[in-house]
Amino acid sequence: MSSESKIPVSTYFGAMTFDQKAMRARLPKEVFTALQGTIKAGKKITEEIAGVVAHGMKEWAMEKGATHYTHWFQPMTGSTAEKHDAFLSIDRDGTPIERFSGEQLIQGEPDASSFPSGGMRTTFEARGYTAWDPSSPAFLMKGGKDLTLCIPTVFISYNGEALDAKTPLLRSMDAVSKSSIRLLETLGVSGVSRVKTFAGCEQEYFLIDRKYYTERPDLVMCGRTLLGALPPKGQQLEDHYFGSIPDRVLEFMQDVEHELYLLGIPAKTRHNEVAPHQFEIAPIFEEANIAVDHNLLVMEVMRKIAEKKGFALLLAEKPFAGINGSGKHNNWSIGTDTGINLLDPGDTPEKNIQFLVFLVAVLGGIYKRADVLRMSIASMGNDHRLGANEAPPAVVTVFLGELLERVLDAIESGKVDLKTQKQVLNLGLAQVPEVNKDYTDRNRTSPFAFTGNKFEFRAVGSSQAASVPNMVLNTLMAESVDQMADAILAKIKAGKERDTAILETLREQITATKAIRYQGDNYSEALQQYARDNGLPNLKNTPQSLRVLLKKDIQDLFIKYGVLTAEETNSRLHIRLERYVKGIDIEARTLQLMLKTFVIPDVSEYQGDIGSSFNNLLAAAEAIGLSDKAIKSQADHLKKLAENLSTLIDLTGEFDEVVEKLETLDSEFDKADYCADVLLPFMVKVREVSDRLELMVDRSRWQLPTYSEMLFEH
Ligand code: ADP
Ligand code: MG
Repeated sequence: MSSESKIPVSTYFGAMTFDQKAMRARLPKEVFTALQGTIKAGKKITEEIAGVVAHGMKEWAMEKGATHYTHWFQPMTGSTAEKHDAFLSIDRDGTPIERFSGEQLIQGEPDASSFPSGGMRTTFEARGYTAWDPSSPAFLMKGGKDLTLCIPTVFISYNGEALDAKTPLLRSMDAVSKSSIRLLETLGVSGVSRVKTFAGCEQEYFLIDRKYYTERPDLVMCGRTLLGALPPKGQQLEDHYFGSIPDRVLEFMQDVEHELYLLGIPAKTRHNEVAPHQFEIAPIFEEANIAVDHNLLVMEVMRKIAEKKGFALLLAEKPFAGINGSGKHNNWSIGTDTGINLLDPGDTPEKNIQFLVFLVAVLGGIYKRADVLRMSIASMGNDHRLGANEAPPAVVTVFLGELLERVLDAIESGKVDLKTQKQVLNLGLAQVPEVNKDYTDRNRTSPFAFTGNKFEFRAVGSSQAASVPNMVLNTLMAESVDQMADAILAKIKAGKERDTAILETLREQITATKAIRYQGDNYSEALQQYARDNGLPNLKNTPQSLRVLLKKDIQDLFIKYGVLTAEETNSRLHIRLERYVKGIDIEARTLQLMLKTFVIPDVSEYQGDIGSSFNNLLAAAEAIGLSDKAIKSQADHLKKLAENLSTLIDLTGEFDEVVEKLETLDSEFDKADYCADVLLPFMVKVREVSDRLELMVDRSRWQLPTYSEMLFEH
C-alpha cells in the first residue's frame, strides 16, 4: 500500500476491476468488440461470448490472487448481498481444477428464499437468478486474507420479476433515454442514440472510536444512539466544517481512497462536515447505475477500513440527537451520448432553448410527482432527519437561484420572444453555472437545488442505497419529458412554428409548475404554510410516504414506463413497511434493555450512595452544627434524583406494554402507524427522563459512553 500510494493514482486506478483495459488485454478481439457492443446497447450478453469472457475474467482474477467468485447484487433490503463460490471443482477423474463457465458468469442461482420478495413468490418457486449486468465491471474485493471476484448482477425471479433495486433503475434509465431522444428530436436535435442520467453521491458519515461503539448496545444494534444527554457545549463549534482533518482520520481516508481507486471509483473530495466527528467523501459523478454501485462500495469499503483503524463508521441519518445528521446529496443530471449535458445552459441560443426545455421538464416532473420523490427517500433513519431544522424538509420544493428565477419570470410574462433568441442569451443564461457555483447563491436549506449544471437532491438519507431515488428521478423525468414533447408536437400539428410552439409550451409549463419553486428558507415555518397554501405534499413520516405506492395513478406511472409492474410496486411497499416496523421494534427493545440493564441500575446505585451519605450527614448534623436549610438542600438533591428515577422506572414498565402491543396489531400499515405515532414518541419521552438523570449522576457510575466522550473529548 505505502509504495503504491507514492506512485500516481492514474497508474493503478481500476487495477482491481475487469475494465475496458483488462478486457482488451484478456479477450480475443472479436469477443471484446461484441461485448462492447452489448454494453453500449444496454443488452444482455449471449451465451456464446459468455464462455470466453468468463474464462478471461477467471484467469485475470486468479492471477491477482482470487480463489472465489460471487454474484454481487442489491436485494430490496437496501444493501448488497454476496454468496461466494470457489473456482475449485473436481473433475470426473478426481483431479482438482479451477473452473468458471459462461453459465456461471451470466446466471448464478442464489437460494432466493432468504431475500425479501414482498410476497412475490410463493416458497415453492422461491428461486431467483442473478444475471451479470455487463455495464458494471466485475471487481476484486479484499476480504479476510484473499480476494473475491465480484460480479455485479441483477436479481430476478423465474417469472422475470425484479427482486432487486438495480433492475428497476436500469429500466428507468432506458425509459428516460427513450423519452428524451423523442423530445430532442422535437426540438430539432438529431443524432443522439442514448440519453444518459448521471449521479454523483456526496456521502456524509460519522467516525467514532470503536471502543465506545462496542460499549453501546444502541450503536451496535441500531446504528444510532437511543439515549444520551447533549453536553452543554453542544455544536457551537461550527469551525469544524472545512477545518483541518485529524491525522488519524486522514489516514483512514487515505486508505479508503486507495482501496476505491483500485476498484475504479473516482473519489475526489474529502472534508470535515458540520458536526464533530462528521465527514464527507464525494466521487466524481458517473452514469447513474455505476454511481449507485460505487456508492454502495464506498460505504462497504469505509466500513471495513474503519474497523481496521479502530473506528466505527456510523452511516445512520441521525446517530446523535441534537447534532447535525448525515445525508447523501445525490447530484443528478441528464446528458447525451454525444457529450451534451442537457442541464448546462451553454452559450448558443440553441443550447439555451434545449437547456430551458429540460429544466422546465424537471420542474414539471418534480411538481407532478413530489410525493413519489418524497417516498423514494422515506426510511426509519431518514425520518429523524427530514424536517428537523438543520436538514431538508419533508416538503419537496426546487431552488433555482435568483438568475434563473428572473429568466423564467421573463419568459412567463412574455417579455422574451424566443424567435429573437438573442434575448434569451441576453438574460445572462451563460452565466448560470458560474453564478450557481458561487456559494453565495446557494440555498443550503433546499431539498432539491439547481447547482449550475445539475440538480442536487439533498434529502437522500446517508445510509440508503441511491438506486430508488435515482429510479424515481428518471421515471418522473421520462413522464415529464414526454408531456413536453406532446405539448410541443400538438402545437406544431396545429400549424404553429416550432419556436413558437416551444416558447408557448415553456410558458404554460412555467406557470403550471410555479408552486414547486421555493426560494426561501426551507427550515422556516413559512415553508410549511407555503406547502399548505399551494397544495404541496408534506408527508411527515415513512408510513405516510409509503402510502403513495398504493395510488393507482403512481402504479400506472411505473407500469407505463416499464419500470415496475404493479406486483413489483406492491412487493416494494410491503418490504419497506416491514423493514420500518422491524427496525423500530428492534430499537424499542434495545432501549428497554439499556434502561433495565444500564440506566436504572447505574442510577439506583448512585442513589444508594448519596442516600447513605445523606444518612451519615444527618447523624453528624448536630455535631457539626449544620443548619436546617443546608440539610434541606441535600435532601432536595436526593429527592430530585429519587423522583426522576421513580418516573423512569414507571415509564419503563409502561414501555413494556407499549412495545408488546405492536405484535397484537394486524395490518402492516397499522403496525407502521403505531410505530410512528405511539412507539417512537414514547421512546422520546423515556429518553428525556434518562438523559436528565445522566446529567445528575456521578460519571464514573454511568457505564454507557457519553456524548461528551464520543464526540467532544479528544
Ligand atoms: P459541491 O456540491 O460540494 O459544490 P461539486 O460541485 O464538486 O461539490 O459536486 C458534488 C458532486 O456532484 C460530485 O460528486 C460531482 O462529481 C457531482 N457532479 C458534478 N457535476 C455533475 C453532473 N453534471 N451530474 C451529476 N453529478 C455531478
Ligand atoms: Mg454539494
